[in-house]
Amino acid sequence: MLLAQLPRIHFSVFAKTAVSLSPSHFNFLNPKPPITVSRNLFFFAPASTLSTVEPIPLPVSDSSDNEDAPVEISLDKLFVPPETDISCDDPATLTTRILKGSNIVLSKYARDAQVVQAEFVKSSVRTEDCPADGLPEFALVGRSNVGKSSLLNSLVRRKRLALTSKKPGKTQCINHFRINDSWYLVDLPGYGYAAAPQELRMDWGKFTRDYFLNRSTLVSVFLLIDSSIPAKKIDLDYASWLGQNQIPMTLVFTKCDKRKKKKNGGKRPEENMKDFQDLIRGFFETAPPWIMTSSVTNQGRDEILLHMSQLRNYWLKH
Ligand code: GDP
Repeated sequence: MLLAQLPRIHFSVFAKTAVSLSPSHFNFLNPKPPITVSRNLFFFAPASTLSTVEPIPLPVSDSSDNEDAPVEISLDKLFVPPETDISCDDPATLTTRILKGSNIVLSKYARDAQVVQAEFVKSSVRTEDCPADGLPEFALVGRSNVGKSSLLNSLVRRKRLALTSKKPGKTQCINHFRINDSWYLVDLPGYGYAAAPQELRMDWGKFTRDYFLNRSTLVSVFLLIDSSIPAKKIDLDYASWLGQNQIPMTLVFTKCDKRKKKKNGGKRPEENMKDFQDLIRGFFETAPPWIMTSSVTNQGRDEILLHMSQLRNYWLKH
């Protein structure tokens, strides 16, 4: 459930929080009415995973060109961080606490989000070889060509930092970038590269699975999904594996600037995003945090950094 979104070692803390929030925020039997917000604050929510929650009509198709069209979302589709109380917020106040283009509520832990300094530290081939200084880290992972290097460069405001991890010999490694001398962004190898031999792809799975399951300083995986194309099986498998193994995960939808409908039934980013979330719904009891990004327009960059800061500061405190 919500636990899947948070550091595993804080299981009990969050379990307690979720229970205490339950009557007011996650009352599935008597759901609160959806809040209406403008599109520039909040995009859409997937349909409910729970049969007891009323389905909510979501304008995602033709009206999506209208930036100001109001969109409705139910409270149970928000990602509410632990120790965060939204019970006293009226809808207008609540919408100001939701990160733009996401389902993420800001908590008191969201601070020190700016990237002042970024440096490549090392490439590791095994989890045991990763930095041992105990700093919290976030892993970026996604299919080859999803836009991972572009996003990494955009987050650190450098044009070529992520090139380091694209150099021959480092593409199959766990690459650590230290940020502000206090936390790490970790670039994991892209998966699903069609030209890679099957054995290499299997190895890749084993290698990253070990990292996800055993890296104690991993605060959350940021799984990148290309919003300009329909959901791919390999991405769905990946998300479901993370969900089933309770690895904290944030979905990062990339290339959201690609708004043109493709021919032959192609869909817009928000439709692809909704489809993806509908397809993984069964593996999560609550909606994972998700966020829309574009490395062309820098959409979502500040929001990702704020979200990382609240996860990180919570992790550090507990
Ligand atoms: P990686 O293989 O996941 O590291 O992907 P790259 O960052 O190298 O990007 C792959 C391709 O997608 C490149 O041609 C990029 O220019 C393009 N790309 C990456 N991010 C975006 C984005 O946000 N919007 C658009 N339109 N193209 C992007």
